Formats: sequence, C-alpha cells, structure tokens
Amino acid sequence: MKLLIIANWKCNPMTQKQAERIFGTVKKGIRNIKNMEVVICPPFLYLSGLKIENSKLKIQLGAQDCFWENNGPYTGEISPEMLRNLRVAYVIIGHSERRNYFGETNEMINKKLLAAFRAGLKPVLCVGEKEGEDMLLVVKEQIEEGLKGINKAQAEELVIAYEPIWAIGTGSPCSSDDAMRATLFIRQTITKIYNRKIAEEVPILYGGSVNSKIAADYIKEAKMNGLLIGGSSLAGEEFIKIVKNV
Ligand code: PEP
Repeated sequence: MKLLIIANWKCNPMTQKQAERIFGTVKKGIRNIKNMEVVICPPFLYLSGLKIENSKLKIQLGAQDCFWENNGPYTGEISPEMLRNLRVAYVIIGHSERRNYFGETNEMINKKLLAAFRAGLKPVLCVGEKEGEDMLLVVKEQIEEGLKGINKAQAEELVIAYEPIWAIGTGSPCSSDDAMRATLFIRQTITKIYNRKIAEEVPILYGGSVNSKIAADYIKEAKMNGLLIGGSSLAGEEFIKIVKNV
C-alpha cells in the first residue's frame, strides 16, 4: 500500500503569499519521492491559489472540513461539491478540534462523511480518545456511529486517522506500541462492520506531535500506512524531512 502523508495546516498561515511559499517548498522538496502520496490541507480560502501544474507530482490538495449539504441557506459553510470543483481530492472529517471547539457529534460527522463520498472526495475520518478515556470504547463508538449507512464500495475509499487527543499539539506523541494497538483495534472494528479485506486495505494514519525524528517509527514499528501532521507541516523543511524519513 502507498504511504499517505497528510499536512493539516489548521488556521495557518496568515497570508496567501505565505501559503504559496510553504506549498512551493514542499512541492520542490518531494519531487523525487516514490510510493507515497502527500496531501496538503490548507485553510479553505487558500485552496484555489495553490496549483499543482505537474501531474507527475505525488501531491494532492485536501480540505480540513466540509458541510453535509451541497448548497443553500447555510451561512459560512463550504460544501463537498464546491471542494471537488476546485480539484480537492481529500477532506479531513471529525478532527478532534472540530469535535471539541465546534461541537461536532458523531451524527454530524456521519452526515459529512456521506456527503463527501457523494461528491467523490476521499474522507479522512479522525478518531481518538481524550486523556484518561478508554481508547477501545471511544474509537469503537466513533467508527460505528461515523460509518452508519456507508456502503462497502464507499468504505474502500475511506482513510482513518488515529489521533489521541492528548498527543495533538502537545509535544507528547503516542508510543508506537500504543499506536499499533489502536491500528489493530481499528482493523478489527472495520472487519466486524464490513469484512477483513476492506479492513486490511483501509489506510490507517497516525497523528499527534509527529516530528522528523520519530515519524518512521509509526510506519516501521506500528505498521501504520501514513501520518497526519499538524504543527510540523507548517515548517516546509521539517515536513520534507518527515516525508523523506518515512
Ligand atoms: C493534527 O492536528 O491533526 C495534528 C496531528 O497536530 P500536531 O501534529 O500538531 O500534533
């Protein structure tokens, strides 16, 4: 399976020019990578200005969220069709910051996933427990509720990111043993909902305080299929190091 490295820029940087500069650095730095896809998820308003002129580049654009309707009286929302029309390929759904600060529930996340699939986007479903919570219980519920009504053909296009909330932006990443335990559990849960083939083929990423020194551990030791990177993805050179190290 090809490795997938996703950069989540969150609410950064402050200008289009800075966004273009980081994007340019990354494009140049990853020119010769093989067996890997890199996805850059900037804030919505920079998406149309970031161009992928060279189709041979293994780089794609992603969004950090989307709404569940395609158009209508929904002030402030961005729809999956709008994103697809900008040639966006991926969309992060259910990031813990959306769940915590914007009250997103598993039911809303399910509606967003269904809408993303209908528009032909590849959703990246984020799951993970808070400090002190039972990973097994939380992740099981997030997956079961999030994937309600999603058929097998759609599940084949799904990406899941395991992001323990206590590891996001804290400088305290999850150990590769714990990441591996989560990966195995996610595959078991997907097997129960769909089947073993889909469970084995769904890319599972790790996210939470990854830097270039530890990035490869999650691929080699925890057998994950890629990474979701927040803070370190904004420093173009550090992000390129992560891509090269894995
Ligand atoms: C994230 O927000 O998805 C993330 C993984 O952030 P960080 O890498 O900064 O922990």
